[in-house]
Amino acid sequence: MPINANNPDKKTWLPVPENSDFPIQNIPFGVFLTRDDIITIGTRIGNTAIDLGALHQLGYFEGIPLTEDIFLQDTLNDFISDGKQTWRLVRNRISDIFNIENRVLQNNEDHKKVVLFSMDEIEMKLPVLIGDYTDFYSSKEHATNVGTMFRDPENALMPNWLHLPVGYHGRSSTIVPSGTPVRRPMGQTFPKGAEKPIFGPSKLVDFELEMAFITTDGNAMGEPISIEEAEDHIFGMVVFNDWSARDIQKWEYVPLGPFLAKNFASSISPWIVTLDALEPFRVESPEQNPEPFSYLQQEGKHSFDIHLKVAITPENGKSNAVSKSNFKYMYWTMAQQLAHHTVNGCKVNSGDMMGSGTLSGPTPDSYGSMLELAWQGTKPIKLDNGEERKFIHDGDTVTMTGYCTKNGVRIGFGELSTKLLPIFEPKKK
Ligand code: CA
Repeated sequence: MPINANNPDKKTWLPVPENSDFPIQNIPFGVFLTRDDIITIGTRIGNTAIDLGALHQLGYFEGIPLTEDIFLQDTLNDFISDGKQTWRLVRNRISDIFNIENRVLQNNEDHKKVVLFSMDEIEMKLPVLIGDYTDFYSSKEHATNVGTMFRDPENALMPNWLHLPVGYHGRSSTIVPSGTPVRRPMGQTFPKGAEKPIFGPSKLVDFELEMAFITTDGNAMGEPISIEEAEDHIFGMVVFNDWSARDIQKWEYVPLGPFLAKNFASSISPWIVTLDALEPFRVESPEQNPEPFSYLQQEGKHSFDIHLKVAITPENGKSNAVSKSNFKYMYWTMAQQLAHHTVNGCKVNSGDMMGSGTLSGPTPDSYGSMLELAWQGTKPIKLDNGEERKFIHDGDTVTMTGYCTKNGVRIGFGELSTKLLPIFEPKKK
């Protein structure tokens, strides 16, 4: 089935500001609270949010096999379970409804009143109920930088790294959408020069610039998802900030890996951009040497040219760009990650989320964490208000953005913006 929605020449009758992340070629999916406090599944064109539940009730999806309440839900999990053919039919239909040549909704003021919202009258929610969250460690540059700092520059990559996409199981209960502030965590650390561990606020709170993909239920327990079919089970992607407390991490991670240093918060951009929408932006992933096992081998282009940026805005200050990276630097592809994740028969469900791992590029201005950008605090980042940052301060807002561009079409993810609050202080009795 063709992806008509991706036609770069298509124009919409809705206003789309120049350089918007959300032209009619994007059509992402999200969940929002309307001005009437009703939760619904929707999409977005320009700065207009579109209530898909209302569109469906008005008959605009006639002919597509959808249950009546598929969009009247507070998560996208059931819609994602419907599978790739249905996602494509719905995206093509939305593209058709908002095509400038289509007058049906365009000329129906009563329908427009219940279907369309401006972005400032809605509140974005988490788009999926995330059953399980897995985080990979798939940027060679990031793994090399961290290995150099934490272990041994001569043997920065662990012996397994070039043979399999290293990952760990994270925690989904503290994944929040853009705009939700997160707190500096308390925890145990073992500062340099100390004789024993201490307990207190983490002093080294960091961001991790990542992207994450959301899966559909693709396999039964005991049955792997093959590398060839892996992309069919990926619904779409979001920008992902995997907040990390480096001092807690360093003390706790031996021998089982990250725990409380990672599970206090992770933030996602709220619109899921479908893999279909990203199709025109495919690029080859880095060459893999040694050759991976056959269950991880694939031909063709399986990465995406997604430009990523990070900015820090101090309280009452201006935004300071601190990193520019790209999703295409990732060594292991999403298909390889999903094939590896399930090769032992592990089951994935609709709405599961898989983080790429910190996306560091080859140059120091493309590193995806403060740990690397300020090189363990030895090269502080200067802000335009004269302050310096080695890690994130209370009151700082970290903003991540991502977009692709080709043939005059720009497809983006919107903003992922999160403020870091001070530690939790219990109310005095
Ligand atoms: Ca991570």
